[in-house]
This record gives sequence, structure tokens and C-alpha cells, in this order.
Amino acid sequence: MGKNEAALADITHWIGGARVAGMASRTGKVFNPATGDVTGSVRLADAVTVDAAVSAALAAFPAWSETSPLNRARVMFRFKELLERNHEALASIITHEHGKVFSDAKGEVQRGIEVVEFACGAPQLLKTQFSDNIGGGIDNYSLRQPLGVVAGITPFNFPVMVPMWMFPLALVCGNTFVLKPSERDPSASLLLAELLQEAGLPDGAFNVVQGDKEAVDAILTHSHIAAVSFVGSTPIAEYIQAEGTRHGKRVQALGGAKNHMVVMSDADLDHAADALVGAAYGSAGERCMAISVCVAVGDVADALIGKVKTRIGALTITGGMDARADMGPLVTAAHREKVLGYIDCGVTEGASIVCDGRSHQAATQAGFFLGATLFDNVEPTMRIYREEIFGPVLCVVRVPNLAAALEVVNSHEYGNGVAIYTSDGGTARSFGRAVHAGMVGINVPIPVPMAFHSFGGWKRSMFGDHHAYGEEGVRFYTRYKSVMQRWPDAAASKGPEFAMPVNK
Ligand code: NAD
Repeated sequence: MGKNEAALADITHWIGGARVAGMASRTGKVFNPATGDVTGSVRLADAVTVDAAVSAALAAFPAWSETSPLNRARVMFRFKELLERNHEALASIITHEHGKVFSDAKGEVQRGIEVVEFACGAPQLLKTQFSDNIGGGIDNYSLRQPLGVVAGITPFNFPVMVPMWMFPLALVCGNTFVLKPSERDPSASLLLAELLQEAGLPDGAFNVVQGDKEAVDAILTHSHIAAVSFVGSTPIAEYIQAEGTRHGKRVQALGGAKNHMVVMSDADLDHAADALVGAAYGSAGERCMAISVCVAVGDVADALIGKVKTRIGALTITGGMDARADMGPLVTAAHREKVLGYIDCGVTEGASIVCDGRSHQAATQAGFFLGATLFDNVEPTMRIYREEIFGPVLCVVRVPNLAAALEVVNSHEYGNGVAIYTSDGGTARSFGRAVHAGMVGINVPIPVPMAFHSFGGWKRSMFGDHHAYGEEGVRFYTRYKSVMQRWPDAAASKGPEFAMPVNK
């Protein structure tokens, strides 16, 4: 028996209101990225286990969908209180399996709680429209009805927040839910399931299947799943969109990113440098809204790079439970190797390496650490510019003016988030209108919309019609129905009418 194997957590599924081992024999390893130790063994579901979860959700659907929106919202109110009580416990699980620093993990939980707060407004959100007497004693009103069993497939980088972009709204809209979390940091999903149960959610309304591609494929092909929400990398998002729609499901698939921050010469450079360092290296760059490209306009580059370099030198890179930590490790050894490969590639491609994370002292520690890397003179043709690295690597592209900056940003295949730093309102306004991205920050580095707005990118950063959470989320998780009613007065009947009905 290897080191620590005796103490490994057995990370199971959650089906019908209980932890379930399932029949499949395959398991995956879960690591503590700060030490490199294996801490858990996660069960990897097969199609039979997925079917058990869908059956539990299907059985719970009739009663839950007929529960009034107010009573569904009351479950969410209790869930919110429980989340607040368990805020640190959830954040600690995130830090131990993902590696992000504890303060960042607490922020992630908070952003999830905000979606629950929004979902508590279900009775208002599900209110629809009524037109009295559209003609001939007929009224016309609309309904938003649940879809049935819906599934969520989520990435490793937000093991609490991204699932909570999905299931609170799906549930208050009257659906029942099957979550397939990332197999790299799966434990938080089980605590969320227990808290939902404690909040009074009926068993079967929320289920978790741990797993990888085998479980995902079973979800995509299951005839009783009506809709799939996916968040993850772009190649998998495209696959989910194609396969899900081919099997008749409504699909929302959010993909990868390459987020630019444009810095104009009239910007406050200290403010911009602080923002760049936080947005590029926070969470070790493992955020879909991380800034990975700085577009330095005019003569701003040298001064800005000097300020960023000083701040990189002051970063504390260590295990996330250490209160001094600014940046923790990457999620796995394999992901660290991938990021190292990109840094090697950038050097080979001819970019100037200003700070080299490979030689940082942190990179010699146990665990999956890397220092912060900064490249200057990056060209849009280089792989380090074109591809999502998802690590602590920031590329600087130099351009002469705002038009050239817009051309660079708009030519990229991704269009998730973007930011501009400027003190000129006119520049900011025209940039905000012309840029091809779903979320825009004006002197805000990471413009993640609040729970009562909606989250989503453009171009190859999102596939599907609806953005996540907010009112777009309510639309995604409901079907629209239009009802026309007349209570006929026998005496007023004119007999059959054969022309297209029009307002008379
Ligand atoms: P990933 O695409 O590897 O995995 C996402 C999910 O898909 C996981 O649940 C995983 O088990 C499953 N999966 C992986 N390979 C699969 C396959 N071959 N077939 C079917 N399913 C598969 O993504 P990740 O590495 O966990 O997360 C990082 C990625 O997610 C980055 O690209 C990041 O930009 C993206 N992301 C996007 C957003 C957004 O809102 N746009 C938010 C967070 C993360």
C-alpha cells in the first residue's frame, strides 16, 4: 500500500438523497496540489450509475415541479443560510483539492451564494404576462414551465461556484438535476448535496454522478435528460453542443477564453499594473476570466512592464491555507507540465521572457507550483497568444493605437471577457460598443456579471442561445407556453369561423 493510501477519502456519487458507491470499478485519483499527495479516490460512473441518478431525478420531478414556486424558493432560503454557516468548510475543500488560496476560495463560495439569493426570487422570476381581452372575450397569457430532468457538467476551476450557476435556478424553476462535477476536485459537490437535503429539498431532486467522459457520454445520450449546461474547455464545449443537440437536448455550453486587457497611455498605470497582476496570476491563472494578454497601446509598454515586474517580484507563492499566499499551485502535475510546455514554446517562438516562472523558487517545492511568467513582444501569430494556457502566464502585445488594439482583440477566436484601462470616457464608450466579447470591464479587470445579470462569452467562448444565470438562466431552464382562454357565452356564439383569427 502506497503513501497515504490507507487514509484516502472514498468520493462517491449522491443519488436519491444518499451517498452511493455505484457498480463501476473505475476510480480516479484526487490530489492536494500544495503537497502533491493523493488525498482521495473518486468513483467514475458508468452508464448504469448515470441511469440510476436520472431515474431518481425523474421520480422526484412530478411532485417537485408541482410544488409552488414560493415553497421551492423557501428551500433555497434555507440552503443559503446553510451555505453561509458552511462557507469556510466549502472553501477549505476547494483549497485542498483545487489549490487556490483560501481567501479566493471564500470569494468563489460567495459568488455562488449570490446566485442562490437570486434564485430565492423564484415567484417573481416565474411571473409571466397576461393580456386581458385580446378580442372576442379572449385573454392571452404565458407560462414558463420546467423542462424535466436537466444536467450540469462542470470544470475543475470553480468546483462550487460554477455548479451553483446552474442548479439553484434549475431547481427553483421546477426541474430536477443531475450534476457531473470535475473529477479533479469532486468533494465539494457532496457537501452541497447534503446541505440541499438539510434545507428540505426532496430526495432525488438533486443528484451527483462523479465521473469522466464515460459519464458525460451517458448524460448526452440519455433519453430522459431534457437539457445540459456545460462549462469547460472549448473543444469539449463543441462536442457537448454537437452531441447534446443531436440527441434532442437544449444545450448551453460555455467554453475557454483568452481575455485581453487594453491599457491606454492615459490610464493610471499603478492602478492598471495592480489589476493586471491580480487578474493574470490570481488563482494561478486558472480562471476563464483571467487576463492572459495585455495590449499595451502607444508608448505605455515599458513603464507598465516595469511596474508589473516589481509586483511579480513581491508575490508570495505557497500553499493556499497559508494566509500570506497570493498564489497557490496548479491543479495537477499534468496541468503544470502543460503550462511549462507553453512557456518553453513562447521562448522558442521568439517572445521576450521578462519573468520566468520556471526558475522561481516555488517551482522547486513539493506540489504543483510554478512562478509567475511574463512575456513581452508577443505576436498574434504565436501559439502562446492564440491558445488558452490556463496558467500564470501573461503575454504583452504592443500596438500603436486604439484601432490596432481593437483589431487584435476582435481577431481572436475567443471572446469571453475583455477590459480597458483609460481615463477617457469617450475611448471607453467606443471600445465597449465595438469590442467583440460577451463581458466588458471598463477599469475593471475581471468583469464577472452579478447574479442578477447573466454570464457568457461570444465567438468560441460560448455555444447556445442563453447566457448562464440571471434572467437568461430562467429562460434556459423553462419552456415558454402561450395560452388563450375564452369562457364562451352560448348566446353570443356566431358559429364556426374559417378566416385567420384577428383582433376585431
Ligand atoms: P474540461 O473541458 O477538461 O472539463 C470540463 C468537464 O468536461 C469536466 O466535467 C470533465 O470531466 C468533462 N470532460 C473532460 N474531457 C471530456 C471528454 N473528452 N468528453 C466529455 N467530457 C469531458 O475543462 P477543465 O480543464 O475542467 O476546466 C478548464 C476549462 O474550463 C478552461 O478552458 C476554462 O476557460 C473553461 N471555463 C470556462 C468558463 C466559462 O464560463 N466560459 C468557466 C470556467 C471554466
